[in-house]
Amino acid sequence: MAAPSKANIVILGGSYGGVSTAHYLLKHAIPILPNPSTYQVILISAASQVMCRPACPRALISDDLFSQDKLFVSIPSVFKQYPKETFHFIHGTATELSAANRKVSFTKSSGGTETVDFHALIVATGASTPSPLLGLNEDEKYLRSCWAAFRQALPAAKSIVIAGGGPAGIETAGELGEHLNGRAGWFTSKLTNPKVSITVVTTSSKILPALRPAIADKAEELLAKVGVTVVKNAKVVAVTPSGAGRDDVAAKASVTLENGKIIDTDLYIPAMGTVPNTSFIDKSLLAADGRVETNPSTLRVDKAGPRVYAVGDAASYARPAVHLILEAIPVVCANIKRDLLLAAGRDEQTVGEDRVYKEDSRETQMVPIGKSTGVGAAMGYRIPGFLVWMIKGRDYWLWTTGGLWSGKQWAKES
Ligand SMILES: Cc1cc2nc3c(=O)[nH]c(=O)nc-3n(C[C@H](O)[C@H](O)[C@H](O)COP(=O)(O)OP(=O)(O)OC[C@H]3O[C@@H](n4cnc5c(N)ncnc54)[C@H](O)[C@@H]3O)c2cc1C
Repeated sequence: MAAPSKANIVILGGSYGGVSTAHYLLKHAIPILPNPSTYQVILISAASQVMCRPACPRALISDDLFSQDKLFVSIPSVFKQYPKETFHFIHGTATELSAANRKVSFTKSSGGTETVDFHALIVATGASTPSPLLGLNEDEKYLRSCWAAFRQALPAAKSIVIAGGGPAGIETAGELGEHLNGRAGWFTSKLTNPKVSITVVTTSSKILPALRPAIADKAEELLAKVGVTVVKNAKVVAVTPSGAGRDDVAAKASVTLENGKIIDTDLYIPAMGTVPNTSFIDKSLLAADGRVETNPSTLRVDKAGPRVYAVGDAASYARPAVHLILEAIPVVCANIKRDLLLAAGRDEQTVGEDRVYKEDSRETQMVPIGKSTGVGAAMGYRIPGFLVWMIKGRDYWLWTTGGLWSGKQWAKES
């Protein structure tokens, strides 16, 4: 545990937001504070490994598809580069935030509950997917156990229903379609009689809501080539048994749509929406959608008292996407540094103004459909399939995460 005399900078959640914030502060904020040795960054995360979450739609099929050493990286190992007394990792889950008392309680993975005081707090606990196959809803052991159960059931499956027409659902459908059914030839628009019938069900009138209709239509064409059918304007209203796809990823299910139609399926993957991991935070600090109400300019949680911030999918300042988190890190860290300097006695004039975040709202999303193609746009420009493959589809961003987890990406203050 932290020595009581230290000023604790507590970060909750060890993923894109939390790991990046920790590196950035350890490199560019703590060393310039008066008496740096009196500060300690404490990172508390439910998973002791950080993972390239976007890779889940392919990674769930087999461990052979990615180098597992790159896919999962030990959090403590990437912080060994800093002086021991400045960083402390706790494998645990935050269970209660008391903003008034400036304390966070957490359960340790090894058992028992503890409480830590914070001088500054950064909430970066992200969001969970309804399907546990698509991220670290709990720790890495749980994710791997879900993948193992799904993989065991996969060879016997003749039908799969995926609920959700966003990128997670579409990428998962594309990966499973290509893996199980192969791909129709150049001059064939649709794979007829696929080995496994794969159906994507979406409430929306088009898939991929963040992309323009022409790109969504192209995605549908590519899905048809790997034996995936899309059912639009259809809401899943019931699943029997109710835990299918959630508690039991290998269960057969009956999926009832709003129009009364029932689809019986060998496997069900609920890939619609995400739920912010904020149940440990008082509702008065949350926006209506459950994310932490975060000042969209400064990334402070204004209602939580001084030096409280939120970043990533748990925060309300922007839509959930890695590139937006990476743009937010230098901003939130500059404001943390500023606030820490003020708290240490520096005056407003020497620390300067707040740094301001502005969400980049241009159409940006890349969606691989299998291993060789996909659809997407970046900064408002449509991207051809081979570029989607080159940038994302060939390894689902694994080429970027090495530098991110090791902190090299944050070597320079930006
Ligand atoms: C299938 C899928 C594909 C995606 N593909 C892309 C993509 O290609 N490009 C893109 O930009 N975005 C993509 N995203 C979104 C992207 O993954 C998220 O924006 C990003 O992971 C959010 O990072 P984060 O740090 O906010 O939290 P998360 O990645 O959600 O991680 C949160 C961390 O906090 C931990 N945690 C949770 N609760 C607690 C608690 N109470 N106490 C302590 N720790 C806790 C979790 O274990 C986890 O380690 C994808 C998302 C999914 C689900």
